[in-house]
Amino acid sequence: MAILLKGSEAAGAIKERITSGISQLSKMGVVPGLGIVRVGEKPDDIAYERSALKKCAGLGIESKVVALPESAGTADLIDVIEQLNGDRNVHGILILRPLPDNIDIKRIKTVISPQKDIDCLNPVNIAMLFEGDRDGFSPCTPKAVMEIIDDNGIDLTGKRVTIVGRSMVVGKPLSMMMLNRNATVTICHTKTKNLPEVCKEADILVAAAGKAKMVTADFVSEGQIVIDVGINTDRDGNLCGDVDFVSVEPVVGAITPVPGGVGAVTTSVLAEHVVKAAMKQNNLSAK
Ligand code: NDP
Repeated sequence: MAILLKGSEAAGAIKERITSGISQLSKMGVVPGLGIVRVGEKPDDIAYERSALKKCAGLGIESKVVALPESAGTADLIDVIEQLNGDRNVHGILILRPLPDNIDIKRIKTVISPQKDIDCLNPVNIAMLFEGDRDGFSPCTPKAVMEIIDDNGIDLTGKRVTIVGRSMVVGKPLSMMMLNRNATVTICHTKTKNLPEVCKEADILVAAAGKAKMVTADFVSEGQIVIDVGINTDRDGNLCGDVDFVSVEPVVGAITPVPGGVGAVTTSVLAEHVVKAAMKQNNLSAK
């Protein structure tokens, strides 16, 4: 039976750091604030927004949501971001992605203040991530993967890591974070040949393709660590990952569940980034 890498344990460690940061801020009379920007009414966005609001409320972080209609244009979104950039009570800004096609994401990216860019949209933070400079903000989901790795004492040095997915939200930034920790990284995508064989060779396999249960027993090998980033619904309408847990779990050494794995850590990372942003904006040292 594989070891279950539950997100709740990593989230617990993050909570301790958040509590310590919040208590330092409260001595200065500062309450960390999150501004969420949503365009449209996509159920995925609303679900993520709801869990972020719940997480922040439970920790003493103030949040506000600015929801724009699906028809909003690039200029409307820029106005909202500029207002939040200038709002002293908002320390971190989360723009829910992907944005509708009519929005010019290239322009949006540069408008968000790098100091408030808690999900790593601005090219300034992306460059810092690629350079391995920890002063910037990394995207929350790949950071959640790293938290699970660290919380379980997994040393990445020299490990062969295969990541299925190359999006800017998960796959690409995660590959850089793993590389910065001396892993040997392979990134797979829809044009990868012999995907199951490539996946089998890894010590650590990360599935971030957004395809329900696509990683089956044919993709994995004995003793492997499998991290499932996917959040999908299966044919019966149940929440599931990119990994077919039932066939994969008996083969591998350790595996994250869905739900209760990476997703359970992502909003904790988000909350920690808000606190980190608030600390930096108030000249307190933050990791
Ligand atoms: P995208 O759709 O943006 O990217 C998917 C990537 O997977 C692409 O690079 C694509 O390749 C690749 N891919 C898709 N199908 C296959 C396939 N059959 N074989 C090989 N590669 C494939 O998704 P995201 O990166 O935004 O999200 C990935 C998953 O992570 C989703 O399930 C999403 O719900 C989940 N997610 C989870 C979060 C969490 O907190 N746990 C937060 C954010 C996302 P190509 O580039 O060639 O098209």
